[in-house]
Amino acid sequence: MPPVDRKNPKRAASSESDFSLMEFMGAFPNDDACLDYLWTTRYSPDGDRALCPHCEVERTFRHYAEKRQAWTCVACGYRIYVTAGTIFHKSSTSLHLWFYAMYLMSSTRCGISAKQLERELGVTYKTAWRMFTLIRNELMGQDDDLVLNGRVEMDEMYVGGRPRLADKMAKGPRATGAWRDKKTEVFGAVERGGRVTAHVIPSRRTPTIMGHVQKRVDASAIVYTDQARQYWNLPQEHHTIAHHEGIYVSGDVHTNTIEGFWSLVKRGISGTHHSVSPKWLQGYLNEYVWRYNHRDDRRAMFALLLLRAANPPA
Ligand SMILES: [Zn+2]
Repeated sequence: MPPVDRKNPKRAASSESDFSLMEFMGAFPNDDACLDYLWTTRYSPDGDRALCPHCEVERTFRHYAEKRQAWTCVACGYRIYVTAGTIFHKSSTSLHLWFYAMYLMSSTRCGISAKQLERELGVTYKTAWRMFTLIRNELMGQDDDLVLNGRVEMDEMYVGGRPRLADKMAKGPRATGAWRDKKTEVFGAVERGGRVTAHVIPSRRTPTIMGHVQKRVDASAIVYTDQARQYWNLPQEHHTIAHHEGIYVSGDVHTNTIEGFWSLVKRGISGTHHSVSPKWLQGYLNEYVWRYNHRDDRRAMFALLLLRAANPPA
């Protein structure tokens, strides 16, 4: 290793996009800073004036100490509660802790469990779990309008109980994957070097898969899949790889990118969870998709969580 110049420390390139705890504490040192963020982002860009729903014009608002989460119209007394409609509303946990939880969930490479959140925040497990699921489900949802383009790999993944030995040993139809029926199925597509989408699907029948392809993959994309029948009639330029013949790469024809994503997801699941409900799994997938799609910029990841928190869907 080269000697470190202590008078002129350089951050490693890999941490350029990181958002350090010191930076977080600088931007959000306390509850008031978090309240101010919501007030200015949601209602009052200049921090002083906002549209009063009662006066129906822009008015000056005041922030009084006794009603901390509310700003009051100086003309009519109307109160704007800055957390209304957000995941923070009516929570007895401080805003500062909520913001810190979002920081933690966006600043670690592989994410953080509700258990770790409990320890870091010093709240009960019940509270930590509630915060964790709200942040994951409400703020890390996938953009349903995302359409992938360029070189796109598609594949399915199965999550849940392992195939029984009897099924694995079976010959005939059972050997061709009847055990998959006991698992939860996921469809995924990824741009090489780009973004990913992943969704729990009710079945791997062709209409289901084709519906997802139509919605999520541009007609001009170049598509790579295995030779599964579901992909036989894709509208896109389509290359297949013969996995059943033991071939995994042929020139640039492969599905290694989506399989890499699946293994990330599976590693995370096997480490912490044993049973998988479809509803839980979709939330879990969303978090992994979120991390993957913002992998180069954790600062942006946190900023985006904040923006989503401040702009809940109507
Ligand atoms: Zn007013």
